[in-house]
Amino acid sequence: MTLSTSTHLTARSRSNTYSKTPKVAIARFAGLKSVGVAPAASVSFKSRSVALAASASRTACATATTAGFKVALLGAAGGIGQPLALLLKMNPMIETLAVYDLADVTPGVAADLSHINTPCKVTAYKGQDQLAGALAGADLVVIPAGIPRKPGMTRDDLFNINAGIVKSLIEGVAANCPNAIVNIISNPVNSTVPIAAEVMKKAGCYDPRKIMGVTTLDIVRANTFVAEAGGVAVSDMNVPVIGGHAGTTILPLLSQASPSVAVADPAAMTTRIQNAGTEVVEAKAGAGSATLSMAYAAARMAESVLLAKTGEKNVVECTYVESSLVEGLPFFSSKVVLGPEGVAEFLPLGELNDLEKAGMEEMRELLTKNIEAGIAFVADNA
Ligand code: NAD
Repeated sequence: MTLSTSTHLTARSRSNTYSKTPKVAIARFAGLKSVGVAPAASVSFKSRSVALAASASRTACATATTAGFKVALLGAAGGIGQPLALLLKMNPMIETLAVYDLADVTPGVAADLSHINTPCKVTAYKGQDQLAGALAGADLVVIPAGIPRKPGMTRDDLFNINAGIVKSLIEGVAANCPNAIVNIISNPVNSTVPIAAEVMKKAGCYDPRKIMGVTTLDIVRANTFVAEAGGVAVSDMNVPVIGGHAGTTILPLLSQASPSVAVADPAAMTTRIQNAGTEVVEAKAGAGSATLSMAYAAARMAESVLLAKTGEKNVVECTYVESSLVEGLPFFSSKVVLGPEGVAEFLPLGELNDLEKAGMEEMRELLTKNIEAGIAFVADNA
């Protein structure tokens, strides 16, 4: 099944859902304006703070969660996994957080989190034979499992190890929670999402609305850098970033920044956003890649997915999914409206300026190669 632009899918509302969300959680979406070509009433999250979820938990729902969701976090003991688990523990919509990893520290991570006085219950699963338990009944599966980059490495250099990890974890999803929405963080995202799609197809349970690559960190970075350059409050900034999640496939649409900012050197700003991950890899000097900003970005994406599952309308995020928006690129990241079943509608790319049009052409070859590599990996490793 392929979704196309303006595909509207029926919303399924949950029984104990957003209607029970505490006022403080609702308040953070008040006053947000639409972004670019998003619908007028779009919930864009440009000034969203994940930390507010904690205050929501503290003030309004100390004993019960607001939506009863189960989230499985695969790779929960890692550099991204641990701070992400902390942020998810603070999300008032999550009733159960299943932390899964191969590492011996996994039960300790869960024990540590479980002492935090928010309603979300944390359960631990360590090792392959406990994967099914972690996934059973999950509404959302978030995957940061896999090795990160070291200086000098590209995201593609991670392919050989991470492709196999993602393939085996998605086989677990197909067997245990085929209807869950999946957020894939493991790099190279440009290839791991097609891998996940192929695995789900083989298992006969592929729903392209539900397999999403997390590119949110590119948007978070673009928002920060452009706001700094324009002297605009960072919490007000929203820059769409389209394409993929590696090198030149990361294409910020600076011309669609909201509020509009006159960036002095758009080409240099584009390059900085494309290389921001490498900036962190080099600064960490061999000790890994972005973990804290990534955890923030993934928590935001998870929150958007869950919010849309409660029936909240006009939740807009950029995400890398199967798409027919750009001819010849069957997987592409762009702005989508999220709904209860995942991607509900693709928003048009909008008007691109000459620099952005050139960026679209430049990314084509690499993104195509990345997509084909993912598809071939599953075919070759049946
Ligand atoms: P990390 O090495 O600190 O943690 C990875 C964790 O995955 C470890 O705890 C490890 O035990 C676990 N793991 C490995 N194989 C597993 C398996 N089969 N099942 C379950 N758990 C498994 O790495 P990190 O810094 O957390 O990065 C994780 C991934 O996220 C990397 O692939 C990295 O490139 C990617 N990443 C993506 C983005 C993005 O924007 N999408 C940004 C930064 C990093």
